[in-house]
Amino acid sequence: MFQQILSLIGSFNLGNNGLVPNLVSQQTEVLPLNASIAIIGAGAGGSSAAYHLSNYSRHQVDVTIFDKNDYIGGRVKTIEIEGESYELGGSIFVTVNSLLIEGAEQFNLNISTPEEPEGNNSTVSVWDGQELIYDFPRGWSWWKGILFLKDFGLSPLYATYYMRTTIGKFLQLYEEPLFPWSSLTTVVDEVGLTELIGTDSRTWLNKNTSVGTKFQDTILQALTRVNYASNLDHIHSLAAMVCLAAEDGVRQIVGGNNQIFHNWVKASGAYVKLNHPVSNIVKSNEGWLVDGNYFDYVILAAPFAHSDLSIISGTHGEDVHLIETEKLIPDVPYVELHVTFVLSKEKIDGGNYFGKYGYSYGTILTTTTPPYAEPQFLSLSQEGTTEKGHYVYKLFSYEDLSDEQLIDIFGWVKTPKTLLKVWRKTWYSYPKMQPVSELANIEIAPNLFYTSGMDPFISTMETNALSGKNIAKLLQARIYNKQNNQ
Ligand SMILES: Cc1cc2nc3c(=O)[nH]c(=O)nc-3n(C[C@H](O)[C@H](O)[C@H](O)COP(=O)(O)OP(=O)(O)OC[C@H]3O[C@@H](n4cnc5c(N)ncnc54)[C@H](O)[C@@H]3O)c2cc1C
Repeated sequence: MFQQILSLIGSFNLGNNGLVPNLVSQQTEVLPLNASIAIIGAGAGGSSAAYHLSNYSRHQVDVTIFDKNDYIGGRVKTIEIEGESYELGGSIFVTVNSLLIEGAEQFNLNISTPEEPEGNNSTVSVWDGQELIYDFPRGWSWWKGILFLKDFGLSPLYATYYMRTTIGKFLQLYEEPLFPWSSLTTVVDEVGLTELIGTDSRTWLNKNTSVGTKFQDTILQALTRVNYASNLDHIHSLAAMVCLAAEDGVRQIVGGNNQIFHNWVKASGAYVKLNHPVSNIVKSNEGWLVDGNYFDYVILAAPFAHSDLSIISGTHGEDVHLIETEKLIPDVPYVELHVTFVLSKEKIDGGNYFGKYGYSYGTILTTTTPPYAEPQFLSLSQEGTTEKGHYVYKLFSYEDLSDEQLIDIFGWVKTPKTLLKVWRKTWYSYPKMQPVSELANIEIAPNLFYTSGMDPFISTMETNALSGKNIAKLLQARIYNKQNNQ
């Protein structure tokens, strides 16, 4: 939804500078393999693991996917509002997200650029809880670029340069010789991203770049807040750079991003058990016991802290004990994010709340500047107009927003019936993306693999899908070697 602000930044063309490798699909040696694998979690990570395992094994592995939800997709889910789908969770991806793009193309899913409901006539504004401190019209043009440079000097150019350098380093994780990697902490070091994930964005930007404070506070922080619900002083620098990574706009799958994950699961041929929480997994001589069956391997494709899962070793008497996970999976705090969809008869009329009358309100991002009042919400955007002519808005906030608060924010105090319907969903959306030095092990116990170590490094649909693919590739080698040594 924020492609304008991002394309405005990204349009300062610095060229490819050779840092972003060409993402050609890698040739994979496909081998017939035999093994049974349980995957716990049918989100981006689990569905990608199932799909790539199936490809790497010529469909020979026997995969069962368990999910406690009644749907595939995890943190990627749509809701229907007057016949149209809207993303309740993971909503946008970018063109360097090759796994999602290839998935969409392979399954003939339509990729769209999210529409701007008001065309080029509305604004992107930045609200600091007290006043609207910045706004510009939607859409890119050379004169708007000049305005941007006038306001922020060369900071947008510097920020774009550092973002591209960072993404270039990250993309090495897709390719040999680094792919597949058996330790995320090690591979992050090898590509030179350890300092970025270990340092908060404010410190890193001030120490290493010429990106000015005004640009940091007004634009970058508005982006880290809408993407990761976090301010620059708290979020690590890699996450801040990723928030800028929409070089030529953002993408969505028409009808819902989760269709990619549905198709991956379907194509994998895995046996799928939805509505099926797994409360414990037990390591025994026969393999891993999951839901009454033994499996050779288990992939845990869900954040451990929210999985309500015990990992146990031993099946009899004194042998039975909990496997200590603290050292293998560092404790990662997650954001509790409140997503609110609003259906209304009228557009936002923000004069009373935001202090500007007769203003064309479009997307409102937020930031905090001295004296640091925390705005009531992180972002507010018009997502579309329905066939009935009603308006659909989406808000992100740290707290639940009551109908009264919404009516106040939208300026409908005198016409409360303008608010037709509200949908609310609370997520543990992503880690707080605080600086980290250690990421979770990939193999947390023998033959037990974990995808969500990726989350505190960078939490997106694409990166978590990459984590699933990486484990599929590691498993291919493991199973092949085991078979050949028998
Ligand atoms: C509001 C919101 C906005 C976002 N915006 C974006 C965005 O614009 N772009 C982007 O790329 N990313 C975005 N993200 C992040 C992205 O959605 C996630 O990083 C990604 O989808 C996580 O995938 P995953 O498979 O690792 O985990 P999840 O999607 O969390 O999947 C884990 C699955 O495991 C299941 N599970 C957990 N425990 C058990 C158990 N014990 N037994 C059985 N099943 C279990 C869960 O039910 C869940 O389905 C957003 C997320 C949210 C919530």
